[in-house]
Parts: sequence; C-alpha cells; structure tokens
Amino acid sequence: MYQDLNQNRASSVNLKDQWNSVLKKLNTEYGNEIFNSWIKNISIRNLEEDVLYFTVPTRFIRDWITSHYLDKIIFFLNQENSQIKRVKINIDNSLTANMLNIDKDPSDQRKINNNTNNSNYIDDWPLDDRFKFDKFVVGPSNELAFASAKRFCSIDVNDFNPLYIYGGVGLGKTHLLHAIGWKLKEDNTANSVLYLSAERFMFQFIKSLRQKDTMSFKQKFRSVDVLILDDIQFMIGKVSTQEEFFHTFNSLLDMNKKVIISGDRSPSELGSFNERMKSRLSGGLVVDIMPADFNLRFSIIKNKYEELVKRNKNSLSLDEEVLSFLARTVTSNVRELEGALNKVYTFSNILGKKIDVELTKSVLKDLLKSNDRRITIDEIQKKVSSYYNIKLDDLISSRRIRTFARPRQVAMYLSKKLTTRSLPEIGRKFGGRDHTTVIHAVKKIDELKEHDSKFDEDVNLITQMITSI
Ligand code: ADP
Ligand code: MG
Repeated sequence: MYQDLNQNRASSVNLKDQWNSVLKKLNTEYGNEIFNSWIKNISIRNLEEDVLYFTVPTRFIRDWITSHYLDKIIFFLNQENSQIKRVKINIDNSLTANMLNIDKDPSDQRKINNNTNNSNYIDDWPLDDRFKFDKFVVGPSNELAFASAKRFCSIDVNDFNPLYIYGGVGLGKTHLLHAIGWKLKEDNTANSVLYLSAERFMFQFIKSLRQKDTMSFKQKFRSVDVLILDDIQFMIGKVSTQEEFFHTFNSLLDMNKKVIISGDRSPSELGSFNERMKSRLSGGLVVDIMPADFNLRFSIIKNKYEELVKRNKNSLSLDEEVLSFLARTVTSNVRELEGALNKVYTFSNILGKKIDVELTKSVLKDLLKSNDRRITIDEIQKKVSSYYNIKLDDLISSRRIRTFARPRQVAMYLSKKLTTRSLPEIGRKFGGRDHTTVIHAVKKIDELKEHDSKFDEDVNLITQMITSI
C-alpha cells in the first residue's frame, strides 16, 4: 500500500515534468501566439491507465484544441510517456475567471497605463526585437517584399494601402511585419501601432462576445493608426470573425490608416473569403516572398549565427563548412534552418567543442531525414547524367568505361554528401553495388576535386543545380 502511494507521488511529479516538456515542445511548434491563446488554457489533472485527463475553461476552447492541436499534444505526450495513449478534456468553469483575468496581468497593466498616459503604442502583442529591418537578409526571392515593406513605412497612405505580403511558411513574413511595426514606432510617424495575428484577433473577438463587450473591442481596433494583421488565412471558414475584421479593415482604410496584412496565399486565393474583402486586399500593394535559394539561405544562417555568438558572448564554435552544410541540406524554410542552427549551436556549447559536419548530421538526424525528401538519390542521378550528357541507365549500369564510371562516382559522392542515406542504401540505388564501392567513389572524387580545379568546378556546379531549388 505504502509503495503504491509512493509510486503515485513519484509518478505525479513525473507527470508534471513530462507535461512541462510537452508544453515547451508545443510552444516551439506553434509559437507564442497560439500557445498563449489556446494551449496555456489547459490544466493537467491525472492519469488513469492510458488516459490523461485535462481541464479547460470553456467548451469552445476544448473543441478548438481538440480539432487543431490534440493530435500533436498526444504525439508529444507519448514521446515523454509511452503509457499515455489518449487524452480526455473536461470543462472546469472555475477556470473561466482565470482566463478572463488575462487582462489584468502585468503586461496588460502596462497597456492600460500607456493608454491613460496617452502613450502612443498599444502593447497588444510585443514585437520581437530580433525582427527588425536591419536583421533581414535580402536576396532575389524577397527583395520586392522587403523594399515594399520599407517603403510602406515612409509613404503617404494614399500611395498604396493596404500592403499585403504573402508566401509559404517560415519565409520571413512575420519578420517583415514586426520590422514595419518597429520602424513606425521608432519613427513616431504613427500614434498607435497594433500588431496581432488573425488567430489573436479571433480570440479577442470571441472574448468580447462572451464578455458582452464588443463595443470596446470595436473601439480599440478602430482607434489605431496602423493595424498589422498576421496570417489572415487563419480566418478562412470563420465567417463571423471575417465579417468583424472586414468592418474593422474598411473603417481603417476609410480613415486613411495604414493596414498591413500577411497570408500564406494571394488575396484571390483566399477561398470563401468575402469577395469585397478580397478585392480591397488586392487593391493595395500585393507582394510575395519566394523560398530562399542557397546563397540567401547561407547568408541568413551566417547572420543568425553571428548574432547567436554575440548574444551569448562566446567564441565561434561552428565551422563555416557546417553552416554551408545546413544551408545546403535544410531547404524547406528559413525557420527550420534556424531551428537546426540553434540545435547544433546548443549542442556544441554543451560539448564545449567545435562541431564538424559529421557530428551535425547525427545531431540533426530527424530533421535531415524530413528535408532529405527534397534531395533524392534519383534526382541526383538525373541531374548528373544530364550534366554529363549520358543516359540514366548507363549511369546506373555496371559498364566500367570511363565516360560512365566517373559520372557514376560523382553521383555516388553527391548522394553521400547531400542526403542522409547510408552507404549500403546508396550502393543499392546504383545497381546493387557494395558499400565499399561507394566509399571508394567518395574518396576518389574528394581527391580529384583537390587536384583538378576544373573538375572541382564541375562538381560544385552540379551541387548548385541540385541544391538551389
Ligand atoms: P513566416 O512568418 O513567413 O512563417 P517568419 O517571419 O516567422 O516566417 O520567419 C521564420 C524565421 O526565419 C524567423 O526567425 C525569421 O527571422 C527568419 N527569417 C526568414 N527570412 C529571413 C531573412 N530574409 N533574413 C533573416 N531572417 C529571416
Ligand atoms: Mg508568420
């Protein structure tokens, strides 16, 4: 009996720790906004067999969390504690008071003070000071968006309004939006700047409905000089939030207030969005951000790295080669690239030594695997055979003549360098060759690259063709 109790106590302590690490992961996964708006509302209760019990303040929050975040929550929980297979969420009304107290936390107190002091900034969602214009690295894929964002800060609002920036995930939209907020705030050109995500907008809107206080909600949004709304695609399918935003948006435009919006798609692709809204969005300046090419990825990561070193006041602990490896392999988006850098950097600090490419590969095994999908051995084989103007079949065949053998070695070499496939796997993809053949190829190409600059250039060019997609 005693043992049982002790065990229970030990496991409940454990459970708290486990939940805390899940919370950390969720925060990283979804970012502060979603985390604070939704996930923070979860209280953990107890574990019974394989079911973990949660409580949240309202039915709405429960439904929302269930449909949007639950799979991930269970996945992370299961990583921490394999016993947990399911989650049940109950509603605890006593938590509502807590939730509604959000407005009374210290940062909001500051907001209220600011307002009474007639201060010029609604501190609704603090801007991140890493996201300023001078920290944004410009390349062909984002220069138009960058230039427009900068220009938007200084122009007369009649020139163009709103500014709409769109592009895929992790490409720098939020960074630019914050940068605009900072700039306007620093220049004192606007009395009040409000930045928030569409999700946050909805959260506040619903809160005002629940508190029967939509008047002050409307007033607050209509009284700003600049409204910056991030991730508008979040409103797709949320008709009443959209409708409310449309009114806010219209009245701001009518009052000549600057509005900046970001989305993951162009205005015309906003599905069931109100047509008038779409056309008003298209009527301003619409610019997109494309995925970064290798050179831009490399410059960004170099910059981020130098910042990290500066912030942590320690000496350099990564080779340039590692940075270039990361920029070459993590091609999905800048956010993942940055995540990879942080991980490697932390690891190197813990180890207290320099990290080389091999160690980087093992630290980032999982991440590289998912990015690996982008560069496949098939793709490498195709690019190499077309570069050397030989047939794909000949590249893979067992024919040993030089014209085929050398390109084959190049392709094996690149498969080793650019993917995380193992040597035997690579061997198999080249007509079932042995892994020692692959090792030999890698050595041979390394040697040739060192002694023959023309050859070295060729291989670098092919690498670029493959990686700069
Ligand atoms: P999005 O909002 O488009 O999903 P973010 O603005 O959140 O992307 O960018 C993700 C991360 O990548 C941020 O840390 C951001 O600073 C960084 N980032 C993206 N593009 C650039 C760039 N051109 N220069 C510097 N950092 C960038
Ligand atoms: Mg964003």
